[in-house]
Amino acid sequence: MRKPKLRELKEALRAVLFGPFTSKYPFEPHTPPDGFRGLPKFNADDCIGCGACAEVCPALAICTCDDRLTTPPTRKITQRWDKCIFCGQCELNCATKTGITMTKTYSLATLDRKSCTQSVQYELVLCEACGEAVGTRKQLQWVARRLGAKAYANPTLIVLADGGMKLAAPDAGRTAEPALARNDMMRVLCPACRRTTVVRELWGE
Ligand code: SF4
Ligand code: SF4
Repeated sequence: MRKPKLRELKEALRAVLFGPFTSKYPFEPHTPPDGFRGLPKFNADDCIGCGACAEVCPALAICTCDDRLTTPPTRKITQRWDKCIFCGQCELNCATKTGITMTKTYSLATLDRKSCTQSVQYELVLCEACGEAVGTRKQLQWVARRLGAKAYANPTLIVLADGGMKLAAPDAGRTAEPALARNDMMRVLCPACRRTTVVRELWGE
């Protein structure tokens, strides 16, 4: 018979003196240690709907769904914990750091997989010229706040950061042709339309 190693002897003594290391779950509640990666949970106040968590999720457990036809247009971000592998990448790469956080909730067994979802939904801002999604209103306002005075380099952020400024009324002085001319500068535009507007202004057609 092999002699027990010192480490095993120490463990045995510790278990005799202080009780076993294992918990009595499910007969007694188990308290996970700090750093435990349980159910990831959206924090609606801190989430800005940027979708970065969906981009990095290796299990494709988070999806972003833009609906441009509703009034106002919306972005819904849904997490399905029946697909989640609890890797923590969503929390690690969250733009605001606290938009989604790993909780200590571990008891997630269910017979109904459809119930394993959570969602957050925000107003989506569309490009006024082409209708492409620019980002959620909350996200763009968050970016403008983070940039401070530098946000004034981007007219889309200026218009969205302070909706009360009304720098450009919806149809004020706007002509159908040519689209994306000088009078479109102070409008909410996607990067492609912003680039076209600036290039036309500087170099013409
Ligand atoms: S913990 Fe990992 S698998 Fe689960 S939602 Fe976050 S990134 Fe995706
Ligand atoms: S703020 Fe965080 S949780 Fe919200 S969509 Fe962006 S990355 Fe995901």
